[in-house]
This record gives sequence, C-alpha cells and structure tokens, in this order.
Amino acid sequence: MFNTLSDRLTSVLQNLRGKGRLSEADVDATAREIRVALLEADVALPVVRAFIAKVKDRAKGTEVSQALNPAQQVVKIVNEELVAILGGETRRLDLAKNPPTVIMLAGLQGAGKTTLAGKLARWLKSQGHTPMLVACDLQRPNAVTQLQVVGERAGVPVFAPEPGNGVGDPVDVSRRGIDEAKRAQHDIVIVDTAGRLGVDEEMMRQAIDIRAAVQPDEVLFVVDAMIGQDAVNTATAFRDGVGFTGVVLTKLDGDARGGAALSVRELTGQPIMFASNGEKLEDFDVFHPDRMASRILG
Ligand code: GDP
Repeated sequence: MFNTLSDRLTSVLQNLRGKGRLSEADVDATAREIRVALLEADVALPVVRAFIAKVKDRAKGTEVSQALNPAQQVVKIVNEELVAILGGETRRLDLAKNPPTVIMLAGLQGAGKTTLAGKLARWLKSQGHTPMLVACDLQRPNAVTQLQVVGERAGVPVFAPEPGNGVGDPVDVSRRGIDEAKRAQHDIVIVDTAGRLGVDEEMMRQAIDIRAAVQPDEVLFVVDAMIGQDAVNTATAFRDGVGFTGVVLTKLDGDARGGAALSVRELTGQPIMFASNGEKLEDFDVFHPDRMASRILG
C-alpha cells in the first residue's frame, strides 16, 4: 500500500500532542520519512538532501502551537517548502513588446512537444491571442502532419514546408515561419522542433541554430514527467546546449508523484510554466506549484 508523505509524517508524529516543542529525535524521524518518500517519488538525491536540510532547520525551533498538532505543523512546513522549491508563484509567459512573441519548443522525441504545441496554441487562442504554429520537426516521419492535425483541432494555422521539396532545412523553415507570422499579423508563434530519443550533438546543434534564427522570447523545454531521474540529465543537457527559459512537464496524468518536477526546477533553476496531463488538447494547464506540492504530500 502506498503511503502518502503526509500519512507518513502524521504516523511518526502522532504521539507528540501536548509537547511544547519538537525534539531532535522527532525532527530526525520526520527527516527520515521525507527522505524515503521523496526518493520513492524519484526526486534526485542532492535535491532530497537540500530539501531535508531546509525542513529540519525550520522544524527544529518550532514551538508546537495550540491550534495545530505537531504533525499538522510539520506537514505545513513541508508543504510551504515544497511550494517554494517548485517555484512559489506560477511564472507567466514573457510576451514580446513588439509582436510576434516567439515561443520555441525543445525536448527529446516522444516528450510531447507536438501535442503540447497544439495545447498551448489552443490555450493562447482562448486567452484572445492569435497564435500560429511552425513545423520545424522535419526529422520524425509524420511530425509535420501531426502538427497540422493538432493545429486544425486547435483552430490555429500551421506553417509547414511545402510537400515534395525533400526534407527541407528546419532552420530555413523556422525563419520563413516567423516572416509569415509577421505578414499575417499573428501575435504569437510557436516553433516545434525535432527531438531524438536521446541527447545527441546534431539535435542540439539544430536547436541552437533555430534558436539563433528565430530569436525566441521563450524557449520551453518539454519533458516527460514519467522519466523520473532521467529528466534531470536531459534537462541539464538542454540547459547547457540550447538553453531554455521555462519547463513544461508532460504526462503528469501518468506520474502520480511529481519527483521530476522537484528535481528539474531545483537543479536547472528554471521555472516550470505549464503542465500537460493527458492526450487531449484540453488536458493542459499553467503549472501551479501549490497543487503539485499537495500532490507530492498526498
Ligand atoms: P514529440 O515527439 O515530443 O513531438 O511528442 P508527441 O507530441 O508526438 O507525443 C508523444 C506521445 O505522447 C503521443 O502518443 C502523445 O499522444 C503522448 N502524449 C503527449 N502528451 C501527453 C500527456 O500529457 N499525457 C499522456 N498520457 N500522453 C501524452
């Protein structure tokens, strides 16, 4: 049976009611439970350590208040620290003063970029924007068609290389896409790029070249939350290669624990901005650190 972190904390601290202050032993027992729960949730070890140090520090001096029992009080501290480590506030998109705002998507193949492009476009449209999609994933067979399909579902136009001209150059397509967006006066352009199954130099080179060509206002690193610890290595490689300004976590419908969220945010220093939680276009939301914290706590 899977015990939630908040169950675990409640069970180790349940006998403390009435004590004036948490003892060292209480704090250590708390730290042990947090450690196990976070490691089970696939949070990277350095992040677990740093997190526990913060919580211990705060829990140590805590006077057990009248209103909350000790377990509730510790759960409250853990919750507040989780929200803080997840970024605190939701970070909004940085929109260009002179439209179009250019948003470039980067990430491994299968991370959910193309799906996300449609979701983001649909969401932006619902906010009154006039987004356009640009298909620069010319690597994966069908990626262009797939983007056209999601674009159609989202009711958003897609700029794609003309069929019959060979594979084409993604950097050239990205440039022409931006020109088209300007001409047709779209206020936001979302550029979908190619990923590979693993980090490789050619993919990174292409992403760097597209970034240089389109000068994006935002580069969103799209990562599958189900890959757990691997998310950290991939995120670090993309940060050091192409660089990014925000993170999108996908497939959160399959990851009940959120370890990737904690690790990626803490280790790359970049905010998680959006969350994708299903295959349908509407399975999408801005990322709420407080909701993810509640989910990790259980
Ligand atoms: P790309 O290679 O990065 O463009 O990835 P795709 O957008 O093609 O997505 C890869 C697979 O993951 C597809 O089968 C999508 O339907 C699926 N997918 C994408 N986002 C989600 C999500 O949030 N939840 C689930 N369950 N599946 C997703």
